[in-house]
Amino acid sequence: MAPQIKYTKLFIDNEWVDSVSGKTFPTTSPHDGSVIAHVSEGDKADVDLAVAAAKRAFHRNSEWRLLDASERGALINKLGDLVVRDSQYLAELESYNNGGLLSGMKLYLSNINKTIRYIASLADKAQGDTIPADGELFSYTLKQPVGVAALILPWNGPSVLFLWKVCTALAAGCTVVVKPAEQTPLTALALGALVAEAGFPKGVVNIINGYGVTAGEALTHHPDVAKISFTGSVEVGKLIQQAAGANNLKRVCLELGGKSPLVIMNDADLNLAVPYAANGVFFNQGQACVAASRLFVQSGIYDKFVEAAVKYAQNIKIGNPADPTTQHGPQVDEVMFKKVLGYIEKGKKEGAKCLAGGRRFGTTGYYIEPTVFADVTDDMTIAKEEIFGPVQSILKFETFEEVLERANNTSYGLASGIFTTNVNTALQFSKHIEAGTVWVNTYFAMNPQTPFGGFKDSGIGRESGLHSIDEYLEVKSVAIAL
Ligand code: NAD
Repeated sequence: MAPQIKYTKLFIDNEWVDSVSGKTFPTTSPHDGSVIAHVSEGDKADVDLAVAAAKRAFHRNSEWRLLDASERGALINKLGDLVVRDSQYLAELESYNNGGLLSGMKLYLSNINKTIRYIASLADKAQGDTIPADGELFSYTLKQPVGVAALILPWNGPSVLFLWKVCTALAAGCTVVVKPAEQTPLTALALGALVAEAGFPKGVVNIINGYGVTAGEALTHHPDVAKISFTGSVEVGKLIQQAAGANNLKRVCLELGGKSPLVIMNDADLNLAVPYAANGVFFNQGQACVAASRLFVQSGIYDKFVEAAVKYAQNIKIGNPADPTTQHGPQVDEVMFKKVLGYIEKGKKEGAKCLAGGRRFGTTGYYIEPTVFADVTDDMTIAKEEIFGPVQSILKFETFEEVLERANNTSYGLASGIFTTNVNTALQFSKHIEAGTVWVNTYFAMNPQTPFGGFKDSGIGRESGLHSIDEYLEVKSVAIAL
């Protein structure tokens, strides 16, 4: 049975409101392409109202700003309790709206609980330093919230990214305006209801559904927004960086795309490497920024590895994401579905060997078979561009030096991985690879204590980890004459 859709309006000052224009837009189910709800469509006028609410809530004498840091942490924990209480519903709703596996969503939400607790624990630890300054001065630093933060989300992890960003900004003492991706507004709105129920003062969290070029742009150009935290494509990330530079020099944190290399050495344990490599690229139907989309396999094990990878992909069970036995669901929407099929055609045309999948699955919805290409070369489009779909591209290499050069020969730098039983190889790779995350004999292992972000075009700043809260804080130096 389809989950009930309770919230479709904009969320401003803890109230559900229609957009000023009265316009709505449809949101669909990736399973069959049907329209599942019409959602209020915010644009500049609504962004102005939401930012004004967030600005009022940030005033130095507001209820929010007068809370102790530990009270902010307690409110975040209360939100965590409500997320746990409603996790079954949130998982069903998100799966319904973005096509992610219901079983995977449940795991996500249990992991995000740990993340919320961790972030809540940071709220009262934003402490400054005392500084041994020259002369007769007593100097110290204060860490203070930067102001109103605009949080712009993608569609591939709507609730997890909502909670990551919102909780971190709130732990720092900021107020926020969230813009969910237009493809997947529903879980962000359900989380808005939990924010109000948890008891956050009005205006602290506001949510504006809408399109990137209207609501998104209005936020990134707004004079009262001090900080933008964005997760999405490199293309839009660069636009946001420009908008931030041109409008009050807003602070930015950009978590962008990737074309992450995963290296399998001759000495790797193939029983581990084959499934990890497959999950590394097929997880969430390939719609993951850290997807292991360039799989470099050393020549001594290449044929054996390819054979096992093809077998693995062919045995993945495709189906309705709401079925707990399904291992592979649909792409998020028709645009992404066509884009991914276009990349598969390019791979075939440019001479890569398509050994598994390579086609649409079924006749309705946006399903694509897990696809394996072998004999991919560095110059092929599927080896260079982020596909964001279930396409494993396998490239052959001879030596470690060669693979390091080739793995780094990209404008991206989000994640990377290596399977090897030689500790020295693992350490050399970890030192020289240009990526924000390195996984050794594993892939996709994430925890809230570890910083996450990209080198090069994959982004600026770090989310998660002990210092994630600093993304939302200004440091003020105070010098007192003695
Ligand atoms: P996208 O860049 O198209 O959209 C992301 C968000 O930006 C949406 O909310 C959209 O409405 C908004 N937006 C679009 N144009 C805008 C503009 N001009 N101004 C302001 N906002 C605008 O990305 P997507 O297709 O939703 O997501 C997929 C991309 O996200 C992939 O490249 C993926 O790698 C990346 N991603 C990165 C991470 C990470 O943590 N590094 C995580 C998930 C996804």
